[in-house]
Amino acid sequence: LPTPTSDLEVARNAAIQPIDDIAAKAGIPTAALEHYGRYKAKIDTAKLLPNPGKPAGKVVLVTAMSPTPAGEGKSTCTVGLADSLGRSGRNVMIALREPSLGPILGMKGGATGGGYSQVLPMEDINLHFTGDFHAVTSANNALMALVDNHIYQGNQLNIDPRRITFKRVLDMNDRALREVVIGLGGPTQGTPRQDGFDITVASEIMAVFCLASDLQDLKHRLAKITFGYTFDRKPVTVGDLGVEGALTLLLRDAIKPNLVQSIAGTPALVHGGPFANIAHGCNSVIATSTARQLADIVVTEAGFGADLGAEKFMDIKARYADVAPAAVVIVATIRALKMHGGVAKTELQKSDPAALESGVANLRRHVHNVEKFGIVPVVAINRFATDTEEELDWLLAWCAAEGIEAAVADVWGQGGGGSGGDELAAKVLTALAGPQSFRHLYPLELSVEEKIRTIVQEIYGADGVDFSVPALRRLAEIEANGWGGLPVCMAKTQYSFSDDPAILGAPKGFTVHVRDLITKTGAGFIVALTGTVMTMPGLPKEPAAMRMDVDDEGGAVGLF
Ligand code: ADP
Repeated sequence: LPTPTSDLEVARNAAIQPIDDIAAKAGIPTAALEHYGRYKAKIDTAKLLPNPGKPAGKVVLVTAMSPTPAGEGKSTCTVGLADSLGRSGRNVMIALREPSLGPILGMKGGATGGGYSQVLPMEDINLHFTGDFHAVTSANNALMALVDNHIYQGNQLNIDPRRITFKRVLDMNDRALREVVIGLGGPTQGTPRQDGFDITVASEIMAVFCLASDLQDLKHRLAKITFGYTFDRKPVTVGDLGVEGALTLLLRDAIKPNLVQSIAGTPALVHGGPFANIAHGCNSVIATSTARQLADIVVTEAGFGADLGAEKFMDIKARYADVAPAAVVIVATIRALKMHGGVAKTELQKSDPAALESGVANLRRHVHNVEKFGIVPVVAINRFATDTEEELDWLLAWCAAEGIEAAVADVWGQGGGGSGGDELAAKVLTALAGPQSFRHLYPLELSVEEKIRTIVQEIYGADGVDFSVPALRRLAEIEANGWGGLPVCMAKTQYSFSDDPAILGAPKGFTVHVRDLITKTGAGFIVALTGTVMTMPGLPKEPAAMRMDVDDEGGAVGLF
């Protein structure tokens, strides 16, 4: 295969099959398909054929070492691994998040994989897709319109306008909307209050959407969302306002998972996309469960490094749904290892086995962390064209000496449909066949403070945790409100095990600072905020949008 010049070009030149053919391959009857054009369909899960004899598919979770800002290729390896498993004759499906539009116009690039390991149609998936994010945005903003109207119409619930914790959302990187004042203009224009916007993927409704097991559970969880507090500091929920029915109605179609395909023709469910910091960062439970129902193996991804995405998958998602992974893949790259070994970002392309040697401590800690969940991970070395044989050999030898299963994967350059992921697939199959002893990191009965301490010490390797005065006050409120039994969702930088993005490698002797806590009573977790967490990103000086265009046929230009 020719070396990929851009993800978009590879995707454009790929042969895409009608979605009915992909559905047939996945065992989805035509009656269950709701077509969105020729290459996308939503699945009405109620119309799937029952197959009582088939055990639920095994979940393979793809995660990563602490990444560089460019991303280490989790989505790419997720798609490539699934394609390789398909190539070896397995009945496999992919489950991925939907990309957020804001970062695409900014700098992030797409979230549909890369090179020859992508899901198609990548232009659609990265733009408006099937409108799910629009639906989540609408449900969120409907709630806020209803809240402000309730206050305007007499405020029977006694909502304190200064203590509304929910914000309006938009799927855009728009820093100018972070802080706004609404309701200006006189008595008929509402009650003035300070407000702000978050990006859609940061909405609790997105987290709820991704953790709900079905429409009824979605409604139940929406009703439990706390959007603010009364003047006497009692939580007020969507159920108190009585609008969970309307919100569920707005999400009725969006909640059906979206079927697409990889370049190699592997069926993929791309559905939901919560933030990986203030939320749990993986695709919807409905998509993962549907894929398990249909396939023998489901390859899925969790956002950020294994200290964040994988821990949340195991301690949040796997608690609310039967999706505990049977195997975990940790994506590592030579460039990220060198960065953790102290090499400057501009020098990462130069061969430097000595730097690798000091950087591998980061990978080692991630491997041992995953073992704490009772799973022995497989390391996927995502091969870049700039990697030298010397570096790859050194890393493979190190993994062997440490007793770590590892394989070099060239799924970006060769495609999982080619031989690039065969060795990785073989190792994953061996791991899947091994004994299973999955466990959560902590029991829910621990206090919130103890849960946070456990994560910080066991997974991050910190000495301890330090709570700010507001965080301590929140801890007391959480226990008083009866929310202490919820799991914890850590919002921390993905670049470091610590809460300081500049501390690389496998640091020791540090303390993690929790500055505040937010309870997401609908999603069912408590977010612990460390460092600065942006819930409405901004655009960079040179936004990616400057390179985007459409050609005369309406095809996308400059979309990565
Ligand atoms: P993540 O899911 O970890 O954020 P992605 O899979 O989205 O990472 O990849 C990020 C970017 O890096 C994509 O544009 C992808 O094409 C590119 N990429 C991934 N793997 C490779 C590779 N082996 N060689 C070159 N580019 C790669």
